[in-house]
Amino acid sequence: MVRYVYDFTEGGREMAGLLGGKGSNLAEMTRLGLPVPPGFVITTEACRAFLTTGGEPPGMSREVSDHLAALEEAAGRRLGQRDDPLLLSVRSGARFSMPGMMETILDIGLNDDSVSGLAKASGSERFAWDSYRRLVQMFGATVMGVDAALFERAMTDLEELRGAGDDLRLDARDLAGLVETYKTVIRRETGEDFPQSPAEQLRRAILAVFQSWNGERARLYRRREHIPDDLGTAVSVQRMVFGNLGADSGSGVAFTRDPATGRPGLYGDYLPDAQGEDVVSGIRNTVPLSELERLDAASYTGLRAHMETLERHYRDLCDIEFTIERGTLWMLQTRVGKRTAEAAFALAAALADEGLITPDEGLARVSGEGLARLMFPRFDTSGDGEPLARGLPASPGAAVGAAVFHSADAVRRAAAGEKVVLVRQETNPDDLPGMIAAQAVLTGRGGKTSHAAVVARGMGKVCVCGAEELMVDTGARRFTAPDGTVVEEGTVVSVDGSTGAVYAGAVPLVDSEVMRILETGETGETGEGAGGLVDAVARALARADTVRRLEVRANADTPEDAARARRFGARGIGLCRTEHMFLGERRKLVEEMILADSPTARDRALAALLPLQRQDFAGILEAMDGLPVTIRLLDPPLHEFLPDRTALAVRVAAAEARGDLPAARDTQLLAAVNRMHEENPMLGLRGVRLGLVVPGLVAMQVRAIGEAVAERLRAGGDPRAEIMVPLVGDARELSIVGEEVRRVLAEVSEAAGTPVGCPVGTMIELPRAALTAGRIAAEAEFFSFGTNDLTQTTWGFSRDDVEAEFFSAYLDKGVFPASPFETIDRDGVGRLVGIAVAEGRAARPDLKIGVCGEHGGDPDSVHFFHAAGLDYVSCSPFRVPVARLEAGRAAL
Ligand code: PEP
Ligand code: MG
Repeated sequence: MVRYVYDFTEGGREMAGLLGGKGSNLAEMTRLGLPVPPGFVITTEACRAFLTTGGEPPGMSREVSDHLAALEEAAGRRLGQRDDPLLLSVRSGARFSMPGMMETILDIGLNDDSVSGLAKASGSERFAWDSYRRLVQMFGATVMGVDAALFERAMTDLEELRGAGDDLRLDARDLAGLVETYKTVIRRETGEDFPQSPAEQLRRAILAVFQSWNGERARLYRRREHIPDDLGTAVSVQRMVFGNLGADSGSGVAFTRDPATGRPGLYGDYLPDAQGEDVVSGIRNTVPLSELERLDAASYTGLRAHMETLERHYRDLCDIEFTIERGTLWMLQTRVGKRTAEAAFALAAALADEGLITPDEGLARVSGEGLARLMFPRFDTSGDGEPLARGLPASPGAAVGAAVFHSADAVRRAAAGEKVVLVRQETNPDDLPGMIAAQAVLTGRGGKTSHAAVVARGMGKVCVCGAEELMVDTGARRFTAPDGTVVEEGTVVSVDGSTGAVYAGAVPLVDSEVMRILETGETGETGEGAGGLVDAVARALARADTVRRLEVRANADTPEDAARARRFGARGIGLCRTEHMFLGERRKLVEEMILADSPTARDRALAALLPLQRQDFAGILEAMDGLPVTIRLLDPPLHEFLPDRTALAVRVAAAEARGDLPAARDTQLLAAVNRMHEENPMLGLRGVRLGLVVPGLVAMQVRAIGEAVAERLRAGGDPRAEIMVPLVGDARELSIVGEEVRRVLAEVSEAAGTPVGCPVGTMIELPRAALTAGRIAAEAEFFSFGTNDLTQTTWGFSRDDVEAEFFSAYLDKGVFPASPFETIDRDGVGRLVGIAVAEGRAARPDLKIGVCGEHGGDPDSVHFFHAAGLDYVSCSPFRVPVARLEAGRAAL
């Protein structure tokens, strides 16, 4: 029989899929003997069943009652019992952490009767009414769907009336009044009363948490984090413990190491006389965790010991939520903590040094995406610009943008192409769209564990939080710095998430130390600072290079790029796009070739191009001496070398202009035409087709390559050019061009007096090529997947129109989880790759196979290419370290 409910004592972290991250870790802590308030978990399976059928799965409520009875029995009290009620928390917890994106309801079991029982049992009227107030507020908003702002407004009005600065100054009578106000709001808004039955409260709270899986912000978060939509959330039901029972109580969050840098130490925030959600919401300012030693030495020592236990047990940085109830410490949550890219690399190295993990585990815990982030530039603060203010460096990186004060403004301006910084007093999950749209998030309140900080770190977004010196006025859309500077909406600011500094204007950027070391290979400063990080990155890359099977090449078209790629660790060039050598001044020569009205004129134009091409190839072959250089014959349609069609049309029309004003309708029409205009999806006269119909073109390019090889050989070099034919769809196309290539190379060899041989291969970038790969392989010495074109032609999407409206609609509607032009579409394009590899190798077992589309530098795609059995990936020079790292991770 399917079971839907597990006691904490029955589970463990290996059950995360079923019990969710939170539930399985609570079970794990229970198993470790740490002080966890007792409780049980309703499984993700129950949630999935509920979401598909719209009702509770059969038997679930019986199981919940049984577990509740056991909990009551152990506590010696019943849920909502009149004189001394057992109270429960009901929390969401999915397989993957989605901080703040789903619902939580606390203090379940309170009602008009039991509130007095709680007052008596706890000895505090104020506490009891505050707890009831919290329940009615959370239940009203979450379960009954009342606008949360209505409750907040009622609270603020009362505080103003009492002249109280914060909610701590309201007394029991005020809070009792507030409960009545809240209940009236609920009745008015829903036509229903706040339910007095504890059992009904519990039942509805559980279903509301299930439902919150499909809430708007949860869905948005999942899309952004690539979390599947069909996992569902588990629900933890747990005995309440209270951090708001006076000065000897409190709540806090802690990290076993610094989540920003990975350095050892105790990091966290503590808030006396408060519940957990007060800590993360940034409503009141927390004190550093070290203060707890002074406030409650015994709990502090206990906490440190538990943290040590957890870090050794999980063999990783853990984050923890805890509550102290009248001097008794309770652990409410733990998980392997989110961390910055910097901390991930530093931790992998440190934990391996401590013997807690192996080097391969260390490699598994870093990522190419993180490495890419560390290669970003940082601010150059060597100038005299003083920061406007300083907050807490919550998520590193440097960002510049126009200040905006509301999530919707951030979304709107970003959609119009503007870079923005979202400034808030504090953020809540409703700000998520704005946070995604912004370059950085800046808050006036809240610690390093506030919502803004946690979410930004998870997204790799720059964040400075708790900049208390700033007076943030979101209503007036401005903030004021301590020196009196007023920053209005739209003013450009610079935010440094690594130092916490906020500057007026755009601060110039400098390259990162990691980038410098990767490029030069020199070691940086040693010790704790950049050197520590650089060393950790170097170690991860070295490990990846040891274990990876995929080679990494670069896409490069100039000697400079080739040299840079080589410094980044590229073992050759996988794609040299020769058309990039036809730009600038040389465009004129191509124009002449196209416009040539006689073979003589065309030969003259080609002859003028030849030495220029030869020189380029020689430079690249020299930079990549001893390594393969795949040179692709000309690919784009020739019109790309001609002036823009519209510009030309305008010029022609202007010459005949009569001077009339265009009609209003024409102006409207033109706007519509411009909006709906799509680029030619590049399916015409291009690629190998050019070679077949433009006489002399292939010969000129091959001659230039051959002569460059001969020149390098004469100079004592080791040139390894490979000639690649683009956009082949049929073996015959390749055999025709291949014949010409070999003929020209023979001529060059003869003239040079030395054999000049280059392997001839093809790109696989049309579905037909993939499907007839066996026949093509008979003509090709290597394959290179052009996944840009292969994606375009497989999906029938023009690669130049990916910004089109339907594309974001497709992402929104989940047709694909990520753009197929960024991350390989495994099911479709990937399948064609699989077919081509299998048939190609069957026809020619030693066929060398690589990929040179943009996907070659995309982490997820690199894992796919590894699994597909390719020999190498080729990507832009800056992505080479990322690809090396991911190729290593793929091989683990
Ligand atoms: C490709 O199509 O993937 C490719 C690498 O070629 P290009 O982007 O130049 O068309
Ligand atoms: Mg292509």
